[in-house]
Amino acid sequence: MDEFSLINQIQQSSYKRDELVRGIGDDAAVFRITQKNTVVAVDTFVEGVHFTKETLEPWQIGYRLLAVNLSDMAAMGATPLFYLVSLIIPSDIASTYVVEIFSGMKVLAQEYGIDLIGGDTVSGSEFVLSLTIIGSVPEEKARYRSDARDGDIVFVTGTLGDARAGLELLLNKDYVSPEDLLRQNLIRKHQKPSPRVSFAKELRPIERVALNDVSDGIANELHEIAASSDVTIEINDTSIPVSDGLRMFSAEEQYEFKYFGGEDFELVGTVAEADFPSVRKIGEKLAVTVTEIGRVTYDIERNGKVFIHQGGKTTRLPKHGYVHRSRESNGKINDD
Ligand code: ADP
Ligand code: MG
Repeated sequence: MDEFSLINQIQQSSYKRDELVRGIGDDAAVFRITQKNTVVAVDTFVEGVHFTKETLEPWQIGYRLLAVNLSDMAAMGATPLFYLVSLIIPSDIASTYVVEIFSGMKVLAQEYGIDLIGGDTVSGSEFVLSLTIIGSVPEEKARYRSDARDGDIVFVTGTLGDARAGLELLLNKDYVSPEDLLRQNLIRKHQKPSPRVSFAKELRPIERVALNDVSDGIANELHEIAASSDVTIEINDTSIPVSDGLRMFSAEEQYEFKYFGGEDFELVGTVAEADFPSVRKIGEKLAVTVTEIGRVTYDIERNGKVFIHQGGKTTRLPKHGYVHRSRESNGKINDD
C-alpha cells in the first residue's frame, strides 16, 4: 500500500478548529489552547480482539473507534478538538478498506466539529488501529472518578446492556428483520454508539460530579468510582434502565448484559442530592434518559465495593467486567 496516497485520501481538505496552527503534512501537528486544561486519551483496537470484520462494516470500525474515544472525553467533561490515528496494516488489507474506515470516523468527526491532525501508518502482521483524542476543559471542570461523596445520588444515562445484546445477535448470526425495531436498536447500539459528549458538557455549571463512561459494564465502572472515591455504592436492581429489546433475552442474559456487558458508552455518575434535579433537566433538554439507580454511602468496612438490592436482599455486585473476545479468552474473568 502506498502510504503517501493513503494519507492524501484520508486527510481533510479543510480544518474546522480555530485552535489548529498546522495539521497533517509536517513532522507533527501544532495547535494552541489557552486558559484551559488539555485532556488527552488513546484507545487501540486489535482485529480479532476488539472487533471482527464479520460483525462490523469498515466504516463502522472507524465510527466505533472514534466513538469510544469521544466517550472518554464525555466522561472527563471535556470538549473534543482533535484526533490522530496510528495504523498497523497487514498486506492483505486493501487501501480502499482503510479509506472506508476513515470515512466512518469522518461522519462522527463532522458531527462533533473535530479535526484529524495526524497519525502514523506502518505495515505489520496484525491489523491494529489506535486513536488519540485531544480535548479541552475549563479549569476545575474536569470530571473525576474520585469525586463521589457520601449521600450522592448515583445516576446513569440511557439504557444498559443493549450493545452487548446487539453483539450477541451479530455473533449468533441471528436473522433480524428490518421491521424488528427492538432488535435493530440493539444492533445499532453496538455498531453506532452515541457518546454523551453534549450531556457531559451541559453538566458544567454543577459544582461537583463524578463521572465514568460505561465501556466495560456498569459493575466495573461503579467499582472504579467506589475505589477511587473511597466510598460504598448501593444500587437497586429494579432501577437499572433496560430497553424492551433487552427484555427479550433470558433473565440470566439480561443480568449478565446489563451489569457486565461492555460498550454501551453511556455515562454513570454521582452528584449531590440537591444537584440531581439539574441533571434531570439537562437530560430532558437533550432527550437523554437519566435514571437514578442508587446511592453513595460511607462505611469503612465496605468502601470500594458495590452492593445491589434485589428482592429484599442485599448482595455484593462482583467486580468483573466484559473481557473482549480473543484467541485466548472468550468470556469473563473475575478479578475479585
Ligand atoms: P513522519 O515520517 O514525519 O512521521 P509520516 O510520513 O509518517 O511523517 O506522515 C506524514 C504526515 O501524514 C504526518 O503529518 C502524519 O501525521 C500524517 N499521517 C500519517 N499517517 C496518518 C494516519 N494514519 N492518519 C492521519 N494522519 C497520518
Ligand atoms: Mg510517521
